[in-house]
Amino acid sequence: KPVLFSGMQPSNDSLHLGNVVGALQQWVALQEEYDAYYCVVDLHALTSSPNPDELRARTRSTAAQYIAAGIDPAKSTLYVQSHVPAHAQLSWVLNNITGFGEAGRMTQFKDKSARFGADSTTVGLFTYPVLMAADILLYDTNVVPVGEDQRQHLELTRDLAGRFNSRFGDTFVIPEPIILKQTAKIYDLQNPTAKMSKSAESEAGLIKVLDDPKVNQKKIMRAVTDDDASIRFDRDAKPGISNLLTIFSAMSGWAIDAIVDEYAGRGYGDLKKGVVEAVHAVFEPIRVRTLELLDDPAELDRLLAVNAEKANAAAEKTLAIAYERVGLLRR
Ligand code: ATP
Ligand code: MG
Repeated sequence: KPVLFSGMQPSNDSLHLGNVVGALQQWVALQEEYDAYYCVVDLHALTSSPNPDELRARTRSTAAQYIAAGIDPAKSTLYVQSHVPAHAQLSWVLNNITGFGEAGRMTQFKDKSARFGADSTTVGLFTYPVLMAADILLYDTNVVPVGEDQRQHLELTRDLAGRFNSRFGDTFVIPEPIILKQTAKIYDLQNPTAKMSKSAESEAGLIKVLDDPKVNQKKIMRAVTDDDASIRFDRDAKPGISNLLTIFSAMSGWAIDAIVDEYAGRGYGDLKKGVVEAVHAVFEPIRVRTLELLDDPAELDRLLAVNAEKANAAAEKTLAIAYERVGLLRR
């Protein structure tokens, strides 16, 4: 089977709608066809300087949400990044073939560092995409399902793999992205031109899987729209309505055109009510199951340990070859 790798940061106590649509829903479907690695990338989460106890809780909670959404830990390798030391080790090697300017062109770095300010922007945030390249390349990954926001990081991964191979000899498989076009990007409900993000400044536009359904209902009913009072998909002129239509479609499985036909001539309030119901139908079973799993942290930790063994075995092989190729002395 071809290999698939993907991961999410435990950077919030709950995943959000963008994570579910852009990642989890695809992951569940893809685990049948691929030898899939689904990682909770806790090392990446350090880039936003989390509180230590919170990070630990969020790492467990993220893993539980993967399982609750349908990732089968007996089928897919579901593990925690820091349990596999090769990630950090390979990223150091890759740091040394990455250009400073090249890393500086990453738009997520530019966005996040602008938000954090120069004094709170760390070197960790800067080299984040290099660690991501290591994550992917360690497993001879063929495909990486990601949201549109990660396309540039995946390009960098491909560049680094190609560069390493031509400089040191064929070592890494060059991975391909899988990006679903229509639902590739979910936007913030309060700011529908910015992507929905776990680390958003304000949570008013963030629909979280583990939030009380009433909270999500309120947020959706208050979503920013426009005063043109017509329901149609137009990303530029009507970003708010287009985002609601995308969400509705992703949660219900209906085509956007069918939703537009159904709601023609009706008010935005009606459309929002439809979105509330569609989101609830998908989120509620995930929320309930996650809470059950978190009730038994010992069992969850056991699952993660078993899977970390599997991941370590694969990652150590690739790391050993890469170390050898660049001239590190074998122990
Ligand atoms: P952070 O703000 O901490 O970076 P995030 O919300 O961007 O968090 P990540 O953990 O970086 O989430 O990404 C996890 C996965 O979710 C990735 O595959 C990413 O492409 C996808 N994803 C994140 N945000 C969105 C979004 N708004 N729409 C679609 N997919 C998304
Ligand atoms: Mg992100």
